[in-house]
Amino acid sequence: MFRLRFAPSPTGYLHVGGARTALFNWMFARKNNGKFIIRIEDTDTERSKKEFEEKILNALKWLKIDWDEGPDVGGNFGPYRQSERIDIYKKYVDILISEKKAYYAVYHGQEEIEQSYEFPEKYANKENFSIVVKFKVTKQGTTTFNDLLKGKMIFDNNLVDDFIIIKSNGFPTYNFAVVIDDHLMEISHVFRGEDHLSNTQKQIMIYNAFNWQHPVFMHIPLILGNDRTPLSKRHGGTSVDFFKENGFLNKALLNYLAILGWSTSEEIFNVHEKINEFDPFKISNKSVIFDYKKLEWVNGQHLRKIDIEILINEFLNYLKDKNISLEHNSKNYIKEVLLICREKVNTLEQLKEISIPFFFDDYSYEDRYIKKFLLNENAEKILKNALERFEKLQNYTIENVEETLRNISSELEIGTKRVFQTIRGALLGKLVTPGLFESIVVLGKEKTLKRLKKTLE
Ligand code: GLU
Repeated sequence: MFRLRFAPSPTGYLHVGGARTALFNWMFARKNNGKFIIRIEDTDTERSKKEFEEKILNALKWLKIDWDEGPDVGGNFGPYRQSERIDIYKKYVDILISEKKAYYAVYHGQEEIEQSYEFPEKYANKENFSIVVKFKVTKQGTTTFNDLLKGKMIFDNNLVDDFIIIKSNGFPTYNFAVVIDDHLMEISHVFRGEDHLSNTQKQIMIYNAFNWQHPVFMHIPLILGNDRTPLSKRHGGTSVDFFKENGFLNKALLNYLAILGWSTSEEIFNVHEKINEFDPFKISNKSVIFDYKKLEWVNGQHLRKIDIEILINEFLNYLKDKNISLEHNSKNYIKEVLLICREKVNTLEQLKEISIPFFFDDYSYEDRYIKKFLLNENAEKILKNALERFEKLQNYTIENVEETLRNISSELEIGTKRVFQTIRGALLGKLVTPGLFESIVVLGKEKTLKRLKKTLE
């Protein structure tokens, strides 16, 4: 049985790098009819926060990465929060100490003053002294393992010193807890960022000390910013929440994360339909650069392709998160507006910007429209003429609207560009909108007349 896990530390938001790690583990589990598990690694008591755990799980849910076992859904291998597994770690530490593979070390301030296999009672709870448990490293030889991506890895044991496995507060360190948990949870494969490579050596030493087989490891190159340093806030938004809040679709972000380092036959796809093609051997062993522009392009492809009903839902949820409720909100009108607007934009934020004047009658006029067109000597003439003609027009079809606009231009002997832009801005406040003829058809007679009058006032 393939069992894979994602083991975030709840010390911040879900980073896109973490999301990609989760995605690869999840795809591999799903492809092989295995299980995907969430384990919360909250042994850093100072930095771990329950609210981050919630945010991380919600971000995974938003991405539609689902799990079979985890802190919220339970399972046969729980608990799934490390802070609830302290007794388990204690049991295994005691085994190592009894076999003299680990020992107590007493610190006085920064200085290690004593080592023993018995618990050094006399220092317990004594000010300025702390007691930890250290793993005894066999300095000879090497630690080797086959990384799925990087091939045979060889580490010199001589370079590793005895290391702490239980901290003075009784909590395990990451390297210890992760081994106990991956073993007890019967994890078969561990895909994670290559920043963990040096930890893997220590972890394998612990597996060996227990005579346990270690899982298959694959270390994935990190995601970098355009200056080739690990992607961080300096480069822009990095959390899944950031992209959600800025109008990216979950499908598109997932698609982009999937192609970030994994080469497939096509670029734009629904990840949920690609699971069977997932192949860890096709993941690139080179670091990849997070390209915000490319992600935006991928988002635009999805935005234009998805079922319009789904887009309407996404759009309304996006507005709801921003506390915006539409004035003109009939389902059919929203649909027609979005159908013409989505052709022009890449994100829900841009969709909001371009479509908002369709939904509110008190839209404002942008400065360059006022300066270049509204204050022009011909503006009033054009708008009055348009008002007369559109009042008479019965059938608001694209052809009729176009003909009407061209007639204004020829009757007044004013160029079409000026006529079109003057009317465009009058109706929507902006100079960049979806096609003018279609926009007028979608607005319909009533709004068109009302808005021409409003502009003339
Ligand atoms: N909690 C670790 C992290 O967030 C997990 C690393 C691992 O997958 O072993 O980096």
